[in-house]
Amino acid sequence: MGTLDVRPIPAFQDNYIWLLSGLDDPRAVAVVDPGDAGPVLRTLTAGNLRLDAILVTHHHADHVGGVAELVSASGATVFGPARENMPVEVHRLGAGDRACLPTLGLEFEVIDVPGHTAGHIAYFGHDALFCGDTMFSAGCGRLFEGTATQMLASLDALAALPESTRVFCGHEYTLANLRFAMTVEGGNSDIATYARNAEGLRAANRPTLPSTIGLEKRVNPFLRSRHENVRSSAERHAGRVLATPVDVFAEIRGWKDNFR
Ligand SMILES: [Zn+2]
Repeated sequence: MGTLDVRPIPAFQDNYIWLLSGLDDPRAVAVVDPGDAGPVLRTLTAGNLRLDAILVTHHHADHVGGVAELVSASGATVFGPARENMPVEVHRLGAGDRACLPTLGLEFEVIDVPGHTAGHIAYFGHDALFCGDTMFSAGCGRLFEGTATQMLASLDALAALPESTRVFCGHEYTLANLRFAMTVEGGNSDIATYARNAEGLRAANRPTLPSTIGLEKRVNPFLRSRHENVRSSAERHAGRVLATPVDVFAEIRGWKDNFR
C-alpha cells in the first residue's frame, strides 16, 4: 500500500487543516478539522481537487467552523465524534469504529481520547494519527471538559501506537511547548536537539509537523509523567510528593497553563 500523502492547509493563527489525498486517485481528497472553509476551497480550486470526506475530531469552532460551507460546496461525507454537537449531520464515531473513505482507498480506526473535550476522538490509519487538540508536539490540549485521569489515559492510548506513526496535530504550538518541556526536563538532550530542528523549520516558515509517536515519547513531558525526572521536577514545582502518575500529569498540566 502506498504512503498516505498529507499536506497542511494553514488556517487562523496557528491551526492546521490536514489535506489527505486518495491512494489511487490523488484528485480525491479529505480534510481533517476544517475550521475555516476559505483556505480549503482555494486549495481545492487551485489543485482541481474533489473533496469527498471531512473528518472532525471535536466540536470547537476552530475545527468545525468550515464544515457546513464545505458540505454545501462539495457534498462531502462528514465523520465526527458520537458524543459531541456537530454543525451538520455526521457519521457518528466512537472507540472501535472505523471511518471508511472508499473513494480515497483509506480507512481509519477511531480512538476515544477524552480530556480536551468530553467526546474528542482521534483517527489512526496508514501509519498516521490525526489527534486534533489531544496531543500536540511536545504538549497536550488544555483540560476544558475532561479530567486529568481521562487525558492521561487518552495520551497513554496514543503513546501505545507504533513509534513510526506520523502525528498530525491541530495546531503549530511546538516551539512554545518545547520551551516548557526544557523547563520541566532540562537535562533531556532529545528536547534540545528537537528544539534546534524545530526552530530551523519555523524560521523557514515550514511546519514542525508531523511528529512521530517515537519522538513524542522522548520529548513530550505529558507522555513522560511516569519518568523519574519529570516526576521529581513536578514535585519540586508542587512543593509536595506526587503519589501517582495522574498527580504528576495534573501538576505539569497546571504548570503549563500558567507558563509564559
Ligand atoms: Zn479544541
